[in-house]
Amino acid sequence: METSKIDRLEEQLFRDKNILVDVLREDLNHPVIQGNKLRKLTYNLKNAKKKGNKTLMTFGGAYSNHILAVAQAGKEYGFNTIGIIRGEETLPLNYTLRNCIELGMVIQYIDRTTYKLKNTPDFKDYLRNIYGSFYLIPEGGSNYYAINGCMEIIPKNNDYDYICCPIGTGGTIAGITISNQNKSKVLGFPALKGGDFLKKEVTNFVNEVVNENETTNDLMQSLSIISEYHFGGYAKIKEELINFVRNFYQTHQFKWDLIYNGKMAYGVYDMIEKDYFPKESKILLIHTGGLQGINGFEERNKRVIYE
Ligand SMILES: *Cc1c(COP(=O)(O)O)cnc(C)c1O
Repeated sequence: METSKIDRLEEQLFRDKNILVDVLREDLNHPVIQGNKLRKLTYNLKNAKKKGNKTLMTFGGAYSNHILAVAQAGKEYGFNTIGIIRGEETLPLNYTLRNCIELGMVIQYIDRTTYKLKNTPDFKDYLRNIYGSFYLIPEGGSNYYAINGCMEIIPKNNDYDYICCPIGTGGTIAGITISNQNKSKVLGFPALKGGDFLKKEVTNFVNEVVNENETTNDLMQSLSIISEYHFGGYAKIKEELINFVRNFYQTHQFKWDLIYNGKMAYGVYDMIEKDYFPKESKILLIHTGGLQGINGFEERNKRVIYE
């Protein structure tokens, strides 16, 4: 794993408000199995190898960072890979799926109704009948092993008042919440609309590792879900967000993806402007990677985000 570094963001706004903002550059840990996806896969790959599995299977949408990460991990660590994709095949294939296939992944499309049944035993039997035995990684990669990997994201003995992280399934922030041990406030920024149910999801993930309701509830005290910055949902385009990430790139020379991290960073800037954070706060943003998603976004919307 390449080492992630921490960048301090210099902005007049932050000086005016007397606030420090750092970014943990997990986007630098791998070019493809990037950011939180590497954290989530690390112990799953070890476990799959230990169990003698030769094939990894997982689920996701056609633009999923996780699907591509699994395809790349298969290639690098010597597993066959199968990706079960939600919805119909769309030709020409998008950037993500083209790369998955080039990496040797077998793709099977599943209609959206059947896809909802993906966690049922019947469906797993159906897949085993077709593909034989495999190591199953859930959609988005969030399971016990993934959360253990995500517990290694935040720096040990840090003195941040706030740790900010985007949320999809909630697995990543569950790992952060556990390793944080109630020291910092943890702010989660859902990429999706209607993120209120997420606190429950994160609680379940935390408890999968902690396995003690009282301790889990105690750890969850530090977590707040900030649900105002989803920009209309998963892959909606908003000019304000595009302008924000472009300006940010010109000033700081690194990129945010538009699905997850751009929304979080936009949210934090907005919250600083609105004095959400007390003076002298020290804030850490976790850059969870996902930069491959920009290619699909550009193809789909026929426009270039970063010149
Ligand atoms: C998958 C992903 C997330 C969401 O992580 P969860 O553990 O599902 O909450 C956040 N950021 C990026 C870049 C991702 O690819």
